[in-house]
Amino acid sequence: MNKGRLISCHDCGQKISKLALVCPYCGLPIPALRPLFSPYNKWRLRVENSVAGILGFGMLVFMAYMLVKWVPPLVEWLLDLLPE
Ligand SMILES: [Zn+2]
Repeated sequence: MNKGRLISCHDCGQKISKLALVCPYCGLPIPALRPLFSPYNKWRLRVENSVAGILGFGMLVFMAYMLVKWVPPLVEWLLDLLPE
């Protein structure tokens, strides 16, 4: 038997065929699991992770930029409000 065609059932952990529609051991429907194993979804997950990473990094840079740009004038403005 070809091991590559087997996946572990997420419910009972038994080795079952990737092509099975339901787990023969516990009856869990497999189509719900199968998309995780398709190359398209692997690719999409990778893209989503990179996009999330880039967005997260972008937000960090943007916030640092805003902080550097806005904090000194804000501090100056606050100091102006203080009585001499
Ligand atoms: Zn099962």
